[in-house]
Amino acid sequence: MDLKNFMEDYVVAKLDEVLAQYPDCCHCEQCKRDIAILALNHLPPKYVSTEKGQIFARVESMGSQYEVETIKQLADAIAIVQAHPRHPKQE
Ligand SMILES: [Zn+2]
Repeated sequence: MDLKNFMEDYVVAKLDEVLAQYPDCCHCEQCKRDIAILALNHLPPKYVSTEKGQIFARVESMGSQYEVETIKQLADAIAIVQAHPRHPKQE
């Protein structure tokens, strides 16, 4: 079945945008993955068909409440990872 949790793509796409507002947070791939996982675990999944053309149509129909909630969860996740990175702090 061509099923996909669209929120995965959406959170990853928003991550860089939100993270840009937190220059003090580590931007390495490990921390970015941790932030995305934390945020996704607090967001409702949004399953879509991956048939051609479907995904973009769904994005537009998602509405702004998803954007607001996604940004809030990303900001919370960034605060957690920034306080407790899984690797020694880098200069
Ligand atoms: Zn890092």
